[in-house]
Amino acid sequence: MGQENSLDIFLQTNALLEGHFLLTSGKHSNQYFQCAKVLQYPGYAESLCNIIAEHFQLFEIDTVIAPAIGGIVVGQEVARQLNKKSIFAERVDGHLVLRRGFEISEGEKVLVCEDVVTTGGSVFEVIDIVKEYGGEVVGVGMIVDRSNGKVKFGVSQISTLEMEAVTYEPEDCPLCKDGIPVVKPGSREIV
Ligand code: ZN
Repeated sequence: MGQENSLDIFLQTNALLEGHFLLTSGKHSNQYFQCAKVLQYPGYAESLCNIIAEHFQLFEIDTVIAPAIGGIVVGQEVARQLNKKSIFAERVDGHLVLRRGFEISEGEKVLVCEDVVTTGGSVFEVIDIVKEYGGEVVGVGMIVDRSNGKVKFGVSQISTLEMEAVTYEPEDCPLCKDGIPVVKPGSREIV
């Protein structure tokens, strides 16, 4: 399955909407992306995660790790296909940590999975956790790379879809200037 087929799945499931949106950051965009809309269908999750699993098939991997919450479904499905252990890091007081008895051993080879990467912040944080435990990050798998390939993690990385996140400050928004009503995604309400 290639990039075009991935895009079809995102459009079919309304994970990718075109219009005029108010994002949680307060910025405006002509696109709204909600990866969970795709991953709610296990069959689509399986197909997309297969692109990641195939890429890392010949890598030596002990464990797949993901940042909560968005990454968990991806990490779990990739780990299932590779038949590896699956763990996740979650935020406590704003920092990602391992809880629930999850551990990484010295020298453990770890694949990091995430649903959406924009700046890569959560993935970089997870990479730091793996290193703190003495593990080795062997790769990063993403469902969507919204940096369009600009964010580099310094290991083998793959996404099922690359796209540019275009956002505007409300005062500079060309869609506002065109008088198009701005929508808050998920609420259907016009702001
Ligand atoms: Zn606008």
